Amino acid sequence: MSDWQLQLGEDEAYRALQSAWEHVLDALSERVNKPSFESWIRTARPIAMDGSLVRLGTPSRFAKHYIETKHLDTIRDLLELELGQPLRVQIELVDATEPVLMVDRLPRKPVQRPPADEDEPLSQPLNKRYTFENFVVGPSNRLAHACAVSVAENPGKTYNPLFIYGGSGLGKTHLMQAIGHHIIESQPDLRVLYVSGETFTYHYITALREHKTAQFRRKYRDVDVWLVDDIHFLVGKERTEEEFFHTYNALYDTGKQIVLTSDRAPKELDLDNRLLSRFECGMIADIKPPDLETRIAIIQSKAASENMTLPYEVMLYIAGLITTNIRQIEGALIKLHAYASLMRAQVTQDLAQEVLGNYFTPPSQAIVDAEKVQKEVARRFNLDVSDLKGPSRTKDVVIARQVAMYLMRQLTDWSLPAIGRAFGGRDHTTVLHACKCIAAKIALDKAFCNLVEDLAKQIRDGRNC
Ligand code: ADP
Ligand code: MG
Repeated sequence: MSDWQLQLGEDEAYRALQSAWEHVLDALSERVNKPSFESWIRTARPIAMDGSLVRLGTPSRFAKHYIETKHLDTIRDLLELELGQPLRVQIELVDATEPVLMVDRLPRKPVQRPPADEDEPLSQPLNKRYTFENFVVGPSNRLAHACAVSVAENPGKTYNPLFIYGGSGLGKTHLMQAIGHHIIESQPDLRVLYVSGETFTYHYITALREHKTAQFRRKYRDVDVWLVDDIHFLVGKERTEEEFFHTYNALYDTGKQIVLTSDRAPKELDLDNRLLSRFECGMIADIKPPDLETRIAIIQSKAASENMTLPYEVMLYIAGLITTNIRQIEGALIKLHAYASLMRAQVTQDLAQEVLGNYFTPPSQAIVDAEKVQKEVARRFNLDVSDLKGPSRTKDVVIARQVAMYLMRQLTDWSLPAIGRAFGGRDHTTVLHACKCIAAKIALDKAFCNLVEDLAKQIRDGRNC
């Protein structure tokens, strides 16, 4: 009996894990394209739960890699919701020869073995959501997007190579795969190969081990568009880097389109200079963290695609909470959505705070004190704090007061009534009204949006305005 089977007891905890896993499968089946889901995700099984560690098993090395690189965070988020505790998730390779289908409610079909090497598709599957249509463009990614569109429309003719770099979760893979989708659709005769640096390394090492490097080269050089994601993975792997260099040259010299992504600019990559100078011959575009407006637009677009109704103040709350990683924004939305539907609750800012507050800390850990908000807002509007607390209803004072109330709501953990009290004993409905007015104004007026964002940043960073 395999280790895996031994741990498949019928105990309570395992049953809870199994049922949670089924829900996770349901959720993932809607997000992942069918072939990938059936081949790589459905074949995974829960093995056991050791404290906060959930161990999932899969018989395929590729599936392990695929789940780890693409879906681990989502799986963890969903399992956390299902099981109601913070978790870590680990994917393990298990022996597929044993019948693991003793778990009742899982489909009774044989576990699929990974495809034999000969048939294994070289290209990793493209995520069907990663299209240009689903990509929100803002100042932080405009250049990279424009270059990607240009390459997708004229592969091999405009920017070659196109090198996109930026921090994690900012849309590099999305843009790269959008290029792939576009070309596959518009020029179906072109062979598109999408591969991560890690998978390239894995393919190469496997080919070396199995004495199949000639076949490896043939396959890799027989493509028209080569998309290599996360090439920083090659740093420090000399032989793979050398092989990459030869593949690169072979394709480049025959006018094939090459697109690369990395978490760093080429000059910061510790790769062979011959390679770096080749990257620099093409177009280099970076992606920066999105500004507030773009974050809100992304949240709006994700919520719409999930058929999720989100009040504007909740969008603002999330956009204020997570500022540097769009993958985390998505994770937050999934958590919120799942929680609201499990609890059959309306999504409100209080719910969002309850669900997300423990997972995400506002930028720079800042829960700031209320007095500081009032002081900085008053200073920015050339007023005194006493004006904000007093009875004046002149336009300037009203706006400043509302901004201060709004920022207090965003940056402190004060309740609505407590905020009202801090402004000369105003009612909590006045504070709520202020927050709504400011949220609406932010949505409509870019300059105002910048002003509020800037103020929030200054207050958090503790700088004087
Ligand atoms: P990276 O490869 O830079 O780490 P990804 O491309 O995997 O980031 O993006 C992380 C998630 O954020 C993906 O689900 C992607 O669809 C989403 N995303 C990133 N940028 C955008 C954008 N501009 N518009 C819409 N979704 C985005
Ligand atoms: Mg990526």
